[in-house]
Amino acid sequence: MCGIFGVVGVDGAARLTYLGLYALQHRGQESAGIVAVDATGHVAAHRGMGLVQDVFPPAVLEALKGDVAVGHTRYSTTGSSVLANAQPGVVNYHAGPLALAHNGNLTNAAELRGDLVRKGSIFQSSSDSEVIVHLIARSEARRPEDQILDALERVEGAYSLLLTIGRTMYAIVDPRGFRPLTLGQLGRGWVLSSETCALDILGARVVRELAPGEWLKIEDSRVVDLPSLPVKEHRRCVFELIYFSRPDSVVFSESVDRVRRDLGRQLAREHPAPGADCVFSVPDSSNAMALGFAEVSGIKLEYGLIRNHYVGRTFINPGQEARDAQVRIKFNPVRDVIQGKSVVMVDDSLVRGTTSRSLVRMVREAGAREIHFRVSSPPITGPCHYGIDTPTRAELIAATQDHEAIRRHLGVETLGYLSESGMRRAVGGQPWRYCDACFTGRYPTALPEAMEPAPEPVLMAEPSRR
Ligand code: AMP
Repeated sequence: MCGIFGVVGVDGAARLTYLGLYALQHRGQESAGIVAVDATGHVAAHRGMGLVQDVFPPAVLEALKGDVAVGHTRYSTTGSSVLANAQPGVVNYHAGPLALAHNGNLTNAAELRGDLVRKGSIFQSSSDSEVIVHLIARSEARRPEDQILDALERVEGAYSLLLTIGRTMYAIVDPRGFRPLTLGQLGRGWVLSSETCALDILGARVVRELAPGEWLKIEDSRVVDLPSLPVKEHRRCVFELIYFSRPDSVVFSESVDRVRRDLGRQLAREHPAPGADCVFSVPDSSNAMALGFAEVSGIKLEYGLIRNHYVGRTFINPGQEARDAQVRIKFNPVRDVIQGKSVVMVDDSLVRGTTSRSLVRMVREAGAREIHFRVSSPPITGPCHYGIDTPTRAELIAATQDHEAIRRHLGVETLGYLSESGMRRAVGGQPWRYCDACFTGRYPTALPEAMEPAPEPVLMAEPSRR
């Protein structure tokens, strides 16, 4: 997954982009990059592995001059975790210097790449985003926007893009609108961001969220609406609201905080835990859900787990042992809250079941008498092909194990998942406009064979060893 941010027509654009990326750090912690363009069209770029604050020391930022900039934070979904895959990528092609920042995942990238390589293209990275750059460069159209259109007609899947060609910025959202992108105004200039939280920290005014298929051209501080991309059914990613976006953002016209509270409220209606002494979240992504759960159930909200904020997300670390250690570094239980109590633990989602298992163990060791585990989304049974980093089907616990086996794996007294209909009710708006393929298996695009969701046999619960 990734965060993208762009500025047009404001001096010190790179510094503003740096601040924007800082607010989008949760969308990708693997690498970061900024490309700046000055008044003469000179392009300066810097990319590095790691967090935004480490990649851009003041001297580096100072060297990125200009009033146009585009930035990216990356969390790899396709392509490995190496500097070559950091974005924005910059190339010089016949229409000038081109920089591209991409959020999303193309589902036909491998096929297109194979075709391009056979025709002589030389790729610098293994990321799917570079395919778009090659397709633009190979287009025989004359105007840059027609070249872009040529490229986009061939790609499938999820893309929210910020693209500069010379000093012109293009902002594009794919026709299904999987990933968010919002336009803001800052003085006489313009700002584009994956999430509104990054506009807030700059004091930029939110103008509007780009609709699926919308694309804009910003040139000489003028925003021009280009004709929309061919219409397809809208499929906003529901997981942006459940887990990925920050709660202080407005995404797909919904307050993320509002949606999460409603998910928690709905969860409490569907899976109450009568008699429990307290409810707490697995911080921070499920804080709002625990609030909603407490409100509806009447069970007292507590801070049962404290999170160390100086540790990155644990999800990426392989192996149960490494994850156990990471979980201990990241979370610590508040014994006084937990000891001797029947507790409700609310999480936003269950993926592999490994982090949650470690957490449950920790809460048990802190003296919990009973643990009622509540998940604020339905079982994840399929990988995401549109940009959320989920493991393969075989690693998804709900794709291979039944409810009772998962309960035992976690080591909890009761386990409750939010239903699909409950999720739809909570996200609000028009529920059909969402992509919920990770929960339902209803993928809105064709998938190449290698990505095809192969039905897995559901294993029956193992006999208890207790
Ligand atoms: P696990 O117990 O291993 O299934 O991990 C569940 C935790 O992973 C939940 O607390 C989620 O907040 C978090 N999570 C869900 N999806 C992702 C993702 N794509 N990347 C990182 N963490 C995630």
